[in-house]
Amino acid sequence: MVSSADSTARPPRPITFSGSLLDRAGNPRRNAEWLAEKRDLASSRFLPMRELKPLIDVSGKPARLAWQPVDFARRHASLPTIFLGLQGDIAHFAIDCDADETVATLHGETVKFIDVRSIAPMVAPEEAAILAQARSLIDWHQRHGFCAQCGSPTTLAEAGYSRRCSNANCRAQHFPRTDPVVIMLAVRRDETTGQEMVLLGRQPQFMPGMFSALAGFMEPGESIEEAVRREIAEETGVPCGAVRYIASQPWPFPSSLMIGCVADALDATITVDRAELEDARWFSRDEIALMLENSTNPEATPRMPPPLSLAHQIAKRWLAGA
Ligand SMILES: [Zn+2]
Repeated sequence: MVSSADSTARPPRPITFSGSLLDRAGNPRRNAEWLAEKRDLASSRFLPMRELKPLIDVSGKPARLAWQPVDFARRHASLPTIFLGLQGDIAHFAIDCDADETVATLHGETVKFIDVRSIAPMVAPEEAAILAQARSLIDWHQRHGFCAQCGSPTTLAEAGYSRRCSNANCRAQHFPRTDPVVIMLAVRRDETTGQEMVLLGRQPQFMPGMFSALAGFMEPGESIEEAVRREIAEETGVPCGAVRYIASQPWPFPSSLMIGCVADALDATITVDRAELEDARWFSRDEIALMLENSTNPEATPRMPPPLSLAHQIAKRWLAGA
């Protein structure tokens, strides 16, 4: 039997920016011949990106990625090209077009360069996941043109999954990094009412009425559990015990991995760190349910962030019994 809690635990779509259908082909893509052959096949597809914005076909609903044929790639062979993966036999690539102004002319009525955050909710989930991969990788290449060890120029290598130092005495290899961020709900049972309560905070730059899960970058030499407890304590003064992992989300702005958790709070007293937060409060289950329902209504106060966010998804899963 499926209970109502089970059915709400199953989201209608994967967490945004995950769920790509592409096989990244991590082993064959290291083979330069294999890669060159795929890059020149008539069946291969190429996604142009300008200023980290993908080309999107907006002529139908949902919007779709505006893949270009191999002729496009041949005309722009000098531009940085990243292998995204295979779907069946079809190879998919992203091309960083910033160095070629002529590509701007692709932008028109039916296809447009649109930023990833705006377009993600408008495309199929598996296409949003491809955008996360392409955006993070191209951004990393753009910002890592020089070797961190010796300062010499680096060049794109291994289908876009590393950069190699050009200095023959160095030859250091650099890899794209992913920055882990913990995002969490602290929960406790109110001693008087017996109600389960959830701790949310408000940053000064949030839209009016928005409260969200606390979050922060993990530090070197720290476990996920330790980072969760440290961030909650720093921002609200609330000590926590057990920490449970709920779900994660790639966040390509520029290349974070959001790690969603629930932590058991050991005390209800809140001391807000005003440098980080404007407010922090305990909300009941019923309030959280309403805040999720109101998440896409900009007039609603209080409300949680929209379904695109991991804060929304972990709150939804927690309500459903996770
Ligand atoms: Zn070097």
